[in-house]
Amino acid sequence: MPNTTLELLLARNRNYAVRLSKNDSEYFSRHTAGQSPRCLWIGCADSRVPVDIMLQSSPGELFVLRNVANQVLAHDDGMMSGIEYALNSLQVETVIICGHTQCGGVDFAGVMAITPGHNFQETPLHRQIKPLSQMLLKHIQRYPALRQLPQDHLSRLFVEANVRQQIKQLQQTALFQAVSQKRQVEIYGCVYDLKTGIVDVLTDDENEVPG
Ligand SMILES: [Zn+2]
Repeated sequence: MPNTTLELLLARNRNYAVRLSKNDSEYFSRHTAGQSPRCLWIGCADSRVPVDIMLQSSPGELFVLRNVANQVLAHDDGMMSGIEYALNSLQVETVIICGHTQCGGVDFAGVMAITPGHNFQETPLHRQIKPLSQMLLKHIQRYPALRQLPQDHLSRLFVEANVRQQIKQLQQTALFQAVSQKRQVEIYGCVYDLKTGIVDVLTDDENEVPG
């Protein structure tokens, strides 16, 4: 049975391969020797955050890891194996952890934080997001006025708090600490704004600002 979604994607792929080869006959063969990206990008899986398009990056430039709400959890081998490879084998020098506005994963964690008594069903998504919701709950308990903020403002604050939390969690891993003792690796936190297409870098000193 033909799958129209797959057919459409394959047709676009053939156009892509033909167009780039026509302009530069070595385009694809150049990449077969190996990869040496300078940057590890950790982002959300959201389909509206097209990493290579919005950064205008070429193949080989970015090593990209994505999951729901860009979570860096020490027990998540899927994420940690990618980080290990990027830092130890590829010797990546820059790590960017990028959240985005209107993140469904962060919003879900926010709902869990605001309604802690609710009995959420235990699912993989729930387990993945639970540490974030616990962090957001502490944030709300520390700054109760957050509950009065408009939803979109609170959502943006949570997105930024999440990015900062993931940076901390990465820095605390034995893997990152071992690498840091040997060489410098820069970590930056960013937020991509779906409304403008702009990626902004978070500054260091906003960690405890309640908004
Ligand atoms: Zn997201």
